[in-house]
Amino acid sequence: MDAKDMKPATLAAQAGGVIDVQSGGVVPPIQPSTTFARDRDYEPLNADNIYARDHNDVARQAEAVLAQLEGGTEALLFPSGMAAIAALFRTVPNGGRVVVQSGIYWGTTKWIRDFCERRQIEMTEVEASDIAQLQEACAQAPAQIVWIETPSNPWLRIVDIEAAAEAAHQTGALLVVDSTAATPILSKPFALGADIVMHSTTKAINGHSDVLSGVLVAKETGPVWDEIATDRASAGAVLGPFEAWLLLRGMRTLPLRVNQMCSNAMKVAVFLDDHPQVEEVLYPGLPSHAGHDLACKQMKGGFGFLMSFLVKGGREDALKVAGRLNLFHRATSLGGVESLVEHRYTIEPHTGIPENLLRISIGIEDADDLIADLAQALGQ
Ligand SMILES: *Cc1c(COP(=O)(O)O)cnc(C)c1O
Repeated sequence: MDAKDMKPATLAAQAGGVIDVQSGGVVPPIQPSTTFARDRDYEPLNADNIYARDHNDVARQAEAVLAQLEGGTEALLFPSGMAAIAALFRTVPNGGRVVVQSGIYWGTTKWIRDFCERRQIEMTEVEASDIAQLQEACAQAPAQIVWIETPSNPWLRIVDIEAAAEAAHQTGALLVVDSTAATPILSKPFALGADIVMHSTTKAINGHSDVLSGVLVAKETGPVWDEIATDRASAGAVLGPFEAWLLLRGMRTLPLRVNQMCSNAMKVAVFLDDHPQVEEVLYPGLPSHAGHDLACKQMKGGFGFLMSFLVKGGREDALKVAGRLNLFHRATSLGGVESLVEHRYTIEPHTGIPENLLRISIGIEDADDLIADLAQALGQ
């Protein structure tokens, strides 16, 4: 069966179906060598491998699986999600223009702001979940990149990918989607017109909170993509073979984990939504969520594992709830098999984040245990 005909569960479980010919192993080997030999006529023994900054078999295997899962043509792995984002934005010429969704992952916003200032690039920040605002920003002047993140972290806003792609293309820009909170299992941005998809594979794609990495996937290759690939090989932001191997190993259970996390998250969201100590739940799976209808259209099979909720009262009340949780680890990040809770105001007090907001990432534990933990922490 051709890889493109396989369903995500099959692709992931077999990690691309690679058998190690030398050993017969059904999992890929790790080749730690940084350099690769040539024969006496000075021909490489393996034409694919010269030096580890450009060539790393297991990273290429992981990239092939990621490209297939996302439905793109090529994928490039980086040593972190931020390194992937930086490689993309470095293709914008000095004096260029980018349109970036506001209220997204704070690390992204902060890095792009600093970068654009240094390079005299005009950066327009816009609440892209209100598509009219994005269309207006795109129409103002030509741009090179339109950047959206859906669902957004930590506000869980949903952006209309199809409409965003149309607006981006009209202004001459590529639409790039940070799809970390959706994973390739829940959303297919390429089918809706996106040009490049980015994931922090540190999160659900690896899923075990033990590999830092990021990926860019291209719908089609082209000059910008070639520039990114060249930049990665020359500037050296590559993923090492051990991390790439762990990532590939983590991905084998991606669809299983995401399905379990989504079903747990939906139960937790319904519980929180009904709780007298909770002011509001931000989760696109709830019919009351502003982006629910759109999420139903562009997130097939689940609404994700990430949600935020506002505890009745203020900062102290939210911190007390976080402090009383026993199962949820108080830690940043998301998408791992273990549930996490984070008081975002402590991390980004300057971004207008409510002081009583707790963001939770739901893992694969038993949903009833998670709900019981939240119930005792909220005081029931
Ligand atoms: C974590 C995260 C990033 C950054 O990725 P790193 O792997 O931590 O560098 C970018 N976008 C989103 C939505 C994230 O959650």
